[in-house]
Amino acid sequence: MSKSSMNTILLIEDDPGDALLIKEMLEYQECKAHLVTVERLSEGIKYLQQNVCDIVLLDMNLPDSSGLPTMTRLLDAAPSIPIIVLTGLSDESFGTEAVKSGAQDYLVKGDIDGRILKRAMFYAVERKKLEIALKQTRDLFERQARIDYLTGIYNRLMFTELLEAELQRARRYGSDLSLIMFDLDHFKKVNDDYGHNMGDHVLKEVALLVSESIRAHDILTRWGGEEFMVLIPKCDHSNAVILAEKLRCLLEFHDFGSGLQVTASFGVTQFRADDHADSFTVRSDQALYKAKQNGRNRIEAL
Ligand code: GH3
Ligand code: MG
Ligand code: MG
Ligand code: MG
Repeated sequence: MSKSSMNTILLIEDDPGDALLIKEMLEYQECKAHLVTVERLSEGIKYLQQNVCDIVLLDMNLPDSSGLPTMTRLLDAAPSIPIIVLTGLSDESFGTEAVKSGAQDYLVKGDIDGRILKRAMFYAVERKKLEIALKQTRDLFERQARIDYLTGIYNRLMFTELLEAELQRARRYGSDLSLIMFDLDHFKKVNDDYGHNMGDHVLKEVALLVSESIRAHDILTRWGGEEFMVLIPKCDHSNAVILAEKLRCLLEFHDFGSGLQVTASFGVTQFRADDHADSFTVRSDQALYKAKQNGRNRIEAL
């Protein structure tokens, strides 16, 4: 344990004899960390909410909590603190359960000596750091898997998950749900005339413009290439058409730079009781196809 990494140890222990033993062990090991002792879980949680601390040594049986919930409640309250559980000889099995539930280690009170304690604390702190780093990496990957790399809005994978949840809600509560699919018109020509970078810029700008024009719980997605979806909970057919018209105008009259103007065609549809994900999205696609057929830069509804 390097001195710089261990400044404060919180001991949550209601037995004064056990607490004294730990204190003496740490002193004997010339541990310079500040040892704070409290007797109740509630006091420990309060301490962690108000202070910076490197590690917790936790007796599982306290006046206000006993057994495994003592550890899980502490972990819920302070998820980034490494915890070493202290068990009695007769309840060692709690220790392994505690580790499975997120504690870094357990020590059996009668068996601890200063060196073991010091080493256990060192590894607990290091392991917790790795655990947190791993979780951050995993969260990042999970986010990346659901976000479109170019525009930063949801991708098709995320859309599929969110659509399923919204379909269930619409079925269960009979609430309105509408879908707008739109596709940029003659976008190949934008790339051809202005270059692929400008094409990318337009896609990003479209995502930004639209996301600023919809409500927080509306779900904007890059469906693929230059095709987007807006899933609109609690919105009926006619209001979805109104929103589509607003988006159509927004794009048509926006200057994308260098005088470039871009339009889009829109397909609108409303959820029907016998719809599933495919029938719902296919219908919006059919409406969009019709909008293309009928001249582009327009809305069709089915
Ligand atoms: P339409 O009005 O019929 O939709 O014509 P369109 O040219 O938009 O349709 P088409 O499907 O022929 O071409 C789509 C173009 O979108 C071609 C493709 O290179 C471009 N595209 C797709 N994804 C991207 C991207 O990520 N960046 C850029 N710059 N272009 C993209
Ligand atoms: Mg106790
Ligand atoms: Mg297109
Ligand atoms: Mg297309």
